[in-house]
Amino acid sequence: MAEETLFSKIIRKEIPADILYQDDLVTAFRDINPRAPSHILIIPNKIIPTTNDVEEEDEALMGRLFTVAKKLAKQEGIAENGYRLIVNCNAHGGQEVYHIHMHLVGGQPLGPMLVN
Ligand code: 5GP
Repeated sequence: MAEETLFSKIIRKEIPADILYQDDLVTAFRDINPRAPSHILIIPNKIIPTTNDVEEEDEALMGRLFTVAKKLAKQEGIAENGYRLIVNCNAHGGQEVYHIHMHLVGGQPLGPMLVN
């Protein structure tokens, strides 16, 4: 059984977050430390720690992250100019919270994908 993180508490509304969308599969809320004018986290309600833990049975769930990202990008008014979707994995990926999450960032030119 995967361990809970603070994201489970956000899903259950036990700690405050600016939740923009929630359904039976996923929850989306604004990042507490935004790196761009729009910075939203889209997460599965099921605990999947990292992309290394995604199974075939999760394929519909992973697809839902993208369809919700698309809807929220439109809602934020950033769909046409563009945005970036990021999923970090483990230490080299810079993952801090071990409950898989897709970052939706946009609202300004984001520059090169990787800065060394
Ligand atoms: P990671 O580095 O794991 O890909 O991203 C974790 C993200 O979660 C970070 O961008 C961080 O700002 C965000 N975050 C961490 N704790 C909280 C919280 O309590 N509330 C919200 N809304 N975002 C959080």
